[in-house]
Amino acid sequence: MFDTLSDRLTAALQTLTRKGKLSDADIDATAREIRIALLEADVALGVVKTFIARIKERAKGAEVSQALNPAQQVIKIVNEELVGILGGETRRLNLAKTPPTVIMLAGLQGAGKTTLAGKLAMWLKKQGHAPMLVACDLQRPNAVTQLQVVGERAGVVTFAPEPGNGVGDPVDVARRAIAEAKHAQHDVVVVDTAGRLGVDEELMKQAADIRDAVDPDEVLFVVDAMIGQDAVTTAEAFRDGVGFTGVVLTKLDGDARGGAALSVREVTGQPILFASNGEKLEDFDTFHPDRMASRILGMGDVLTLIEQAEQAFDQKQAEKAAEKLSSGQLTLEDFLEQMLAVRKMGPIGNLLGMLPGAGQMKDQLAQVDDKHLDKLQAIIRGMTPAEREDPKMINGSRRLRIANGSGVTVREVNDLVNRFFEARKMMAQMAGRFGF
Ligand code: GDP
Repeated sequence: MFDTLSDRLTAALQTLTRKGKLSDADIDATAREIRIALLEADVALGVVKTFIARIKERAKGAEVSQALNPAQQVIKIVNEELVGILGGETRRLNLAKTPPTVIMLAGLQGAGKTTLAGKLAMWLKKQGHAPMLVACDLQRPNAVTQLQVVGERAGVVTFAPEPGNGVGDPVDVARRAIAEAKHAQHDVVVVDTAGRLGVDEELMKQAADIRDAVDPDEVLFVVDAMIGQDAVTTAEAFRDGVGFTGVVLTKLDGDARGGAALSVREVTGQPILFASNGEKLEDFDTFHPDRMASRILGMGDVLTLIEQAEQAFDQKQAEKAAEKLSSGQLTLEDFLEQMLAVRKMGPIGNLLGMLPGAGQMKDQLAQVDDKHLDKLQAIIRGMTPAEREDPKMINGSRRLRIANGSGVTVREVNDLVNRFFEARKMMAQMAGRFGF
C-alpha cells in the first residue's frame, strides 16, 4: 500500500534537496509532480486540487526558517498537509457515559464488516471492556455463522437470532440485543449489519431503521481501501442514507494505490478511526493521521530530524557562529555551544542514522559514539574561558593542566586543539570560496 505514491512523492521532493533557494517555478514544478503522484494513487480530484493549492500557497509564502533548508521546509509543509487531509488529531472511540456503548457497522458487502466486528471485539477486550457482538446481517445465509465464528475466536459473546426462525427482522434482533447487553452487563455492543454489492435504497433504509432502534454512539462506515475512487461515492451514499460518525479503512495490506485513505475523510468530513491490514484478528489498530502521513512520505525519520532541529536550533547563536566561522574567528566556546545544540537532539548515532542513506553506512556510524563527544566536551570544559576564546594561548603546561583536570591524556588534548585549528582554517577557506 502507498508504495508507488511514496516513491513518487519522495522523488518529487528529492529534486529540491539539491537547491539552495527555491523559486516559484521550482515550487510549481514540485507541486505538479505531487499532483500527478496523488492522481495516480486514485485520490479524488477535488481533494488533490485543494491539497496542491495549499502546498503552493504555503511553500511560496513560507517564512524563511533558519533551522531548515528549502527542501526540508517543503517536506514539512507537505507532511503537515497530509496529516491534515487524513484528519489531523487521532480520533478515539466515543464511549457512552452510561453503558452500553453501541457501535453500529455499516458498509458494502465484502467491505470487511464481519471481520472488523471480531477485530474490534478483541481490541476492546484487551482494553478491559466486555463487548458483545450482534448479528443483524440476516440477508447473507452465512453471515450469522461467520460472526459467531469470529466472536468465538475473539473470545466474546455473539447475540444472534434463533436458527430456524426464517429470515427474521434485524431491527427486532438489534433491540433485543441491547436489552440483553444491559442485562448481562456488556459495556460495548458491536452491531454488524447487512451489506449489498452496491448501494441500494432498501439497504440504506434497513440500516437507518437499525440505527433508530439502537441509538448508536458511533456508526462506523467500513470501506475497502482497495476500491479506489468508488470509496468516495460509496461513502457519500452512506453519509446521506444512514449517516456515520467515523470511518474504518480495511485491506490496507493490499497493494492498492491508497487514494481512498486520502480522500474519504476530506470528502465526508468524518474522521478515520481504525485501520485494518490483514485477515487475522490482530491485524487492526487505531488510525493515526501523523503516522500514516510519514509512512506515505516514506520519510518518518527525516521528519523527526526536522522537528528536533527546529527545537534545538538557536538562531542568534548560529548566526554568530557562522559570522565567526567565515572570518576564521571561531572559538572553542562556539564549538562547544554548537556541539551542545546538536546533542540536544539526541544520541549522535541516532541522528546520523536518521539521514537518508544511512542504512548503508552502519559500520561507520557505529564508530561515532557519544563517549567520544563526551570526552571532547570534558576537555573544552577543563579550559578557562580565556583559553576557549583564544586557543592559541594553550601551551604545553596548560595542556598538561587541562589533561589532568578532565581525566584525559595530553595527547588527546593536543589532538583536539590541533584538529580545531585545522578545521577552523578549512572552514574559513570554504566560507571564502562559497561566499557565506
Ligand atoms: P463483510 O461482508 O463486510 O462482512 O466482509 P467480511 O468481513 O466478510 O470480509 C470480506 C473478505 O475480506 C473476507 O474474505 C475477509 O477475510 C477479508 N478481509 C477483511 N478485512 C481484511 C483486511 O484488512 N485485509 C485483508 N487482506 N482481507 C480482509
